[in-house]
Amino acid sequence: MYTISLLFIHFYFISCETLLTIHNDNHHNTDEMFSILQNVHKKCPEITYLYDLPLKSVQNRPLRVIVFSSNPTKHDLLEPEFKYVGNMHGNEVVGREILLNLAEYLCNEYKFNNNQNIRKLIDTTRIHLMPSMNPDGWEMATTYAWNGTGGQQRYQDIKTMLREEGASDWLTGRTNANNVDLNRNFPNLDEFIYRYNHYAHHRNNHLDMETFQTLTKGTDCGNNAYQSETITVAFWIMQLPFVLSANLHNGDLVANYPYDDSELHVQTYSPSPDDPLFQQLAESYSFSHKTMSTSAKPCADELFKDGITNGAAWYPVCGGMQDFNYLASNCFEITLELGCRKFPPGKLLAALWEDNKNALINFMWQTHLGIKGLITDEQNQPIFNATIKVFALENDKWHYIDHDVTSGMCRNIDISATDRDVMNPNLRSKFGFEQFDVEVFDFKLMLTQI
Ligand SMILES: [Zn+2]
Repeated sequence: MYTISLLFIHFYFISCETLLTIHNDNHHNTDEMFSILQNVHKKCPEITYLYDLPLKSVQNRPLRVIVFSSNPTKHDLLEPEFKYVGNMHGNEVVGREILLNLAEYLCNEYKFNNNQNIRKLIDTTRIHLMPSMNPDGWEMATTYAWNGTGGQQRYQDIKTMLREEGASDWLTGRTNANNVDLNRNFPNLDEFIYRYNHYAHHRNNHLDMETFQTLTKGTDCGNNAYQSETITVAFWIMQLPFVLSANLHNGDLVANYPYDDSELHVQTYSPSPDDPLFQQLAESYSFSHKTMSTSAKPCADELFKDGITNGAAWYPVCGGMQDFNYLASNCFEITLELGCRKFPPGKLLAALWEDNKNALINFMWQTHLGIKGLITDEQNQPIFNATIKVFALENDKWHYIDHDVTSGMCRNIDISATDRDVMNPNLRSKFGFEQFDVEVFDFKLMLTQI
């Protein structure tokens, strides 16, 4: 009897694993991508929600997101919002496929395999997955592989070609349909930061007004107009209180963290005020990945110690999405390069999923580092635009982390936090790989007599 029940459990486990689409070795076009997302939603309607960003791609394809949470349709107070964005460069496709697979995996593990780790993650986090930010680029890369590099002479159909050899051109499909690189097309908020740093008192977070003005008036660093994909993702970033994010690319194997640009746009290490935390976040991915932290030279000439790099120390990028996340909204985003080949054969995807699976999950858990809380007055009403200054203790010395935490971004309510006293000013917290139960610490402010 005992043996029979064990066999049954084993069989059930295998059957759920084989349901993962990635084992079919196929790449997925736009329609297939959406049908996978729809199927996941049908299978797990209680914990998922599908939505499209307000603007579509240049060629009118939706930018679709699947959300996982115990309450997926809305933001719950104090529940962190997390996102993964894949396929921003349309010919870099591993992120797209492993995010589709991650969606299936999260649904299966939560609902059918009773995976306690995944259940807790989904119950305490709101996770947004956008498998493709550039569906037009994917279609262009695929069409060129079929028509331009001889795929149709070698294979019976596009699907077989993609399964057997993927696409090999280094550039076609990287941009959107207007030939604009979306990862150079975000408002250049680094420019504001480097300018403000010369002033004694300056703000370096929640630069949303600067962002808004740039988006409505300006052009990007390469003088290109802001693209519909960029604009709609920029407003998405500003509207939802994301705290952590990763942008999935291909072409190397490394976790890249801000800043992506230096003041003079030259190649040099360009730390943000949260540099130690960003290094830790990048390592939380690279050390959980099967080979990212151990590869000596994973691709061409680059050598990345521990599988991480500061963006501008590798090469400067003006108008990238990761610095925009950090500066416009306080969302800590890193850029993940998931392998040397941009569009590998579909038959390698299952192995790539296994390489990244633990890292993808471990990185999502980083949303639960540190502390979180509310800033309220004596009547428990939220106080907008209140600022918390944070100090780090290193070698028994305190030093100021010059990147304040700001509550909310509502500009219509005229409450200044500066004439209030903090009732609970002292709090010590620690960071570490093992801390996944964030501490809740609320700040209650009271009016003082002047
Ligand atoms: Zn890329």
